[in-house]
Amino acid sequence: MARSQTDMPRVVRVMRHPGLWEELPECQQCMGQGACLVEQAVPDYRSGSGYLVERLGECPECHGNGYAEWPEDAEDD
Ligand SMILES: [Zn+2]
Repeated sequence: MARSQTDMPRVVRVMRHPGLWEELPECQQCMGQGACLVEQAVPDYRSGSGYLVERLGECPECHGNGYAEWPEDAEDD
């Protein structure tokens, strides 16, 4: 049950409340960018089908924030 320690998320400092800095794990989905490639369905009316394109969009994991929440049960370990 060896777990790699090299994949620990980096921590970003964010101010969600005025004057209160919090250290939260960087979002692994977008690497803290708040945006990543998301699939978007493009309907093709000529052929009647559609296709998917990848475009840069708001990260669905962190909703564009660039950081994630600590797991709820982190303190129990
Ligand atoms: Zn993200």
